[in-house]
Amino acid sequence: MQFWEKLTNQQIKERVFKALGENVNYYEENIIGIPASHLDSKVFYQNASFLQDAPFISTLIHNPNHIGCHTLGVSESFFKGTQQIEREVLELCAVDILKGEPYKQDGYVASGGTEANMQAIWVYRNYFMQEHGAATNEICILCSADSHYSMVKAANVLQVGFASVPVQEDTRQIDEAALHSTIKALKNSGKKYFIVVANMMTTMFGSVDDLDIYVATLDGTGCDYRVHVDGAYGGFFYPFSEENNKLNFANPKVTSITLDAHKMVQAPYGTGIFLIRKNLIQYTKTEEASYVEGEDYTLIGSRSGANAIAIWMILMTYGPYGWWEKIYILLRRTDWLCQQLTEARVAFYRHPKSNIVTLRSRHVSPALAKEFGLVPDNHHAPNWFKIVIMEHVTIEKLIPLIEKLKA
Ligand SMILES: *Cc1c(COP(=O)(O)O)cnc(C)c1O
Repeated sequence: MQFWEKLTNQQIKERVFKALGENVNYYEENIIGIPASHLDSKVFYQNASFLQDAPFISTLIHNPNHIGCHTLGVSESFFKGTQQIEREVLELCAVDILKGEPYKQDGYVASGGTEANMQAIWVYRNYFMQEHGAATNEICILCSADSHYSMVKAANVLQVGFASVPVQEDTRQIDEAALHSTIKALKNSGKKYFIVVANMMTTMFGSVDDLDIYVATLDGTGCDYRVHVDGAYGGFFYPFSEENNKLNFANPKVTSITLDAHKMVQAPYGTGIFLIRKNLIQYTKTEEASYVEGEDYTLIGSRSGANAIAIWMILMTYGPYGWWEKIYILLRRTDWLCQQLTEARVAFYRHPKSNIVTLRSRHVSPALAKEFGLVPDNHHAPNWFKIVIMEHVTIEKLIPLIEKLKA
């Protein structure tokens, strides 16, 4: 671990307040040129005594704007204190979790996985257009049938093609023969450039794509492609449950990764993380963003600096070993559930290193799904219902479900 350490509450508090002290102070300084201020003081108390012990809520009240990307070039100087913490949290994720080399990745805290995935696809679309003179209808997103629907959104917004590859019903693994025929058909229809999105745990199944299948197939076609990893769900889980995996920056084929801190990390919404190897985010530079100090490479525009602080506080509170233990406990609990389901002869899918268990719908009545808040793959005609073993999903909460499934 180069950047990730465990800190005490006191150390965390001191660090965050120091960062806020380095940001602009609208009360004490004469800052009159930006359409920004602290949160409304009539509504949000600025002087409550508990705030001294509440670094996150204090950051919300200070309301730093992290507009732009702070891993390259210059940034808005008004918020340099908290931007530095954002840089640290990105470096921690890129290097200590995703095996990148230090200071070799750019990134930012996005609104979520949807935006981070779209940002990646935007970069590669522009790369193919600028470097290869590609037309948008020659570019195509390629991902598995279990991929998140944000890829379909991105294809629509960015006006590139979209193709999903069938997966095997029982293993949720990409069907190699179907991948070959899909690519062949796409080539015949004029697609030449592919944006592969590989899943590091899918939303519905927790399944993990075998990137080598894409690589082996695409390398034989002569087509140019780029690989983005969607770790929106699994990015803070799978690197700990399966340390030897290929979905990280140690793999030269992987150039960008999405993580979501508002899923397994339990950070507030608005904490998607986008990471990309150096010298690529330049393809989404908006030259016209002239009122922003430095340049804007991001999709979003204004965004709360408090989000980066929340991620940093959570990760530093656990430290790397604490996080590893947390994931280990969730895995063991998932093992327990699977054992019980097997004994009860309930059919399910589970990736062995995941905390999602997806039940065949024939075992799940509408009443049972409602009682336990089980989520279907499709609300109109469900084939599957999933259970996600989060921190609050204790064995005590699972026992009544097992009993009802047995009955
Ligand atoms: C949740 C999820 C997303 C979308 O993330 P949001 O933060 O909801 O925008 C994308 N991909 C996967 C695999 C997800 O699980």
